[in-house]
Amino acid sequence: MPESVVIIGSGPAGHTAAVYAARANLKPVMFEGYSTGGIPGGQLMTTTEVENYPGFPQGIQGPELMEALRKQSLRFGTRIFTEDVTRVDLKTRPFTVASSERTVQASALIIATGATARRLNLPGEARLWTKGMSACAVCDGALPVFRNKPLVVVGGGDSACEESTFLTKFASKVYVVHRRDQFRASKIMQERVFKNPKIEVIWNTVVEDVVGDDAVSAVRLKDVKTGKTRNLACGGVFYAIGFDPNTAVFKGQLELDADGYVVTQPGTTQTSVPGVFACGDVQDKHYRQAVTAAGSGCMAALDCERWLADER
Ligand code: NAP
Repeated sequence: MPESVVIIGSGPAGHTAAVYAARANLKPVMFEGYSTGGIPGGQLMTTTEVENYPGFPQGIQGPELMEALRKQSLRFGTRIFTEDVTRVDLKTRPFTVASSERTVQASALIIATGATARRLNLPGEARLWTKGMSACAVCDGALPVFRNKPLVVVGGGDSACEESTFLTKFASKVYVVHRRDQFRASKIMQERVFKNPKIEVIWNTVVEDVVGDDAVSAVRLKDVKTGKTRNLACGGVFYAIGFDPNTAVFKGQLELDADGYVVTQPGTTQTSVPGVFACGDVQDKHYRQAVTAAGSGCMAALDCERWLADER
């Protein structure tokens, strides 16, 4: 007998889908991942304070929130395998989901594998990550550690423009460091940056390293036109250099957009394959918040439950 529903991924989207699916008596199986796409629990596992997830007036540590979500999934009977999915077959039903340890058949599938924020992998990065470095200004920018300090945003897309504008609420000044001489961001987002007196754009420049002992104190910049390097003092560095959706295993099996995100029908979590649903950042390049991921996880479980009921 196939499982009713297999959930791949264990961030807020996957666990919310699991809680709803389990409470609908679908006895979900979850592959929470092992190393593909980061660590089980998703991007919140590498965040510190989460202050914008409703219900936690004092904030909560990212890993603590994920542990609570995982416990909630287990409480309602979700069976969790700490394994990466290495192969899926969505062309025949029941669907097949395989890891190095097992192969599972499923009547329906919920994809919640998330996206991985790109990093520059600078020499000082491993040491200073979460000590003044982040890939999410909206998540971390309001933390006291970043207040009234000069901050650096790296990138030239919509995220870099949006996040640098957001950071001006807290920072003494925001530098946007971009490797070319023009942004790829939409005109309206660019204009917001250019109009903001607290933002200075440093064109044609790359970040070579991040400097600091226990916390970020500067970045080393290199002008790509002149080759000149210099240190720029700052209290934080935010990467906004794009995301890679974790969809490699689904390539060729369901519709992905040009950037590799799973395409869902507007207003639903239905993918191009009936019975396969997607939620969270793997299908959302716009909002990317823990709470929106959780919300879409709920939608995926409800869509899945209704689809299974119609199939029977
Ligand atoms: P993006 O559009 O892919 O932009 C990434 C930026 O980072 C580019 O400017 C790129 O430079 C730069 N970059 C990439 N790799 C780099 C590297 N190794 N070193 C230095 N710079 C590097 O990513 P995004 O801004 O996150 O946006 C992703 C998608 O979400 C887009 O479709 C965007 O429109 C959408 N989005 C929309 C909103 C909104 O509408 N509110 C907000 C955020 C994002 P180059 O320009 O030289 O390639």
